[in-house]
Amino acid sequence: MKHYRVAVLGNGPVGILAALCAARQGRGPVLLLAADPPASVDAGGSGYRIEAVPVSLLALLLEYGIHPHLIGAEQTHDLRQVQWDSKASMSLPTPKTVHIHRPALEQALWQKLLQEPRIHLRLGEQSLQLHDAGAGGTNSADSDNGDDWHADLLIDASGRAARTASSIDKSQQPWVARLFTLARQARQPGRFHSHFQPDFQPHFKLAALPQGYVYSLATPQVQNVVFVGRGKAVKGSAGELQQLLHGAQAGWVLQGLPDLMEFHGGMAHPVSLQWATSERSVLIGDAALARDILSSQGLSCGLSEALCAPDLGTPLARASFQERQKQQRQLHATALLNQIRSCLYGIETAWQDYAQFILTART
Ligand SMILES: Cc1cc2nc3c(=O)[nH]c(=O)nc-3n(C[C@H](O)[C@H](O)[C@H](O)COP(=O)(O)OP(=O)(O)OC[C@H]3O[C@@H](n4cnc5c(N)ncnc54)[C@H](O)[C@@H]3O)c2cc1C
Repeated sequence: MKHYRVAVLGNGPVGILAALCAARQGRGPVLLLAADPPASVDAGGSGYRIEAVPVSLLALLLEYGIHPHLIGAEQTHDLRQVQWDSKASMSLPTPKTVHIHRPALEQALWQKLLQEPRIHLRLGEQSLQLHDAGAGGTNSADSDNGDDWHADLLIDASGRAARTASSIDKSQQPWVARLFTLARQARQPGRFHSHFQPDFQPHFKLAALPQGYVYSLATPQVQNVVFVGRGKAVKGSAGELQQLLHGAQAGWVLQGLPDLMEFHGGMAHPVSLQWATSERSVLIGDAALARDILSSQGLSCGLSEALCAPDLGTPLARASFQERQKQQRQLHATALLNQIRSCLYGIETAWQDYAQFILTART
């Protein structure tokens, strides 16, 4: 049986960074239990997501050799156009953010991982038969191919799946996001372009809807429009969603953009608040607390946790980390409830049901 000090489950950004960080500590090989490698997605693809993150995250990524230009980060933003507490849209200052290409980040981290000889990689959907020795004990697992290992510390960064969790709390009617993507076509050298395709104008616009919200954000190369919520806020064709925006006097969100019908429509992703607990592993990133995407904090908070996770070898360190996570959850829930209270549609059923669920996150 192979022994590891640290084993990480999940190859999202948080899991990869945790494995890289543990490997850098140089205290023996690290195991990364990964699903399939990230597909190389072209910017025109339907799942090409832009995420808004604090500027400070760029410094962290640079420390791990990921240059801002690799992930589409070109300019900073400190203003958002928002229609939230009334039907008037206004420009509001926000802490400085950058827009990054999420698939490019996954690819860049994956390449760093492949270059790290101290990380042992196991590929494929991992269905671990964990033998739990309890908090502070040793985790071991029988893998499907009979190739066994045990680790002093198991870090679960499997996202909302939270594979090793003993309990997961999520709304019975989770809100989902429907992503619409449009990419500026790359100009091919030597080819005649009959019309010039200008860059997208980077921006962030957000508008509340009776059953959710919509936001639009862009980098010069990619434009995303994201519908979030339940029921009518996310169902229907591009044309119907466009109509919905006009009905809520939020058509300005799409102003200056091509028709929504020209965008690639992607799959729906769950995006409402969720949290989990585990006795046999340290949960980090979305596995521990999947924040509502309204906060634009999931990625940066998860990556910060990845940096401390490899040091959580003792029960005391784990207990204080989990206490901090609980406080984070309560703070996030309070911030969300305040946003719902100030929302012009906050008394609608969809928002009220969600608020009822969020209240349970404060205990
Ligand atoms: C539409 C959308 C927009 C968002 N926008 C923003 C934003 O603007 N700003 C922001 O900060 N955040 C945003 N987020 C949230 C952000 O994407 C998440 O917080 C972040 O992805 C969490 O990373 P993670 O590594 O914890 O989880 P994930 O990215 O979910 O990664 C988990 C990984 O674990 C793997 N896995 C799962 N089960 C297993 C298993 N059994 N075996 C092996 N591997 C497994 C999965 O394949 C996956 O690769 C957005 C999310 C969505 C859906």
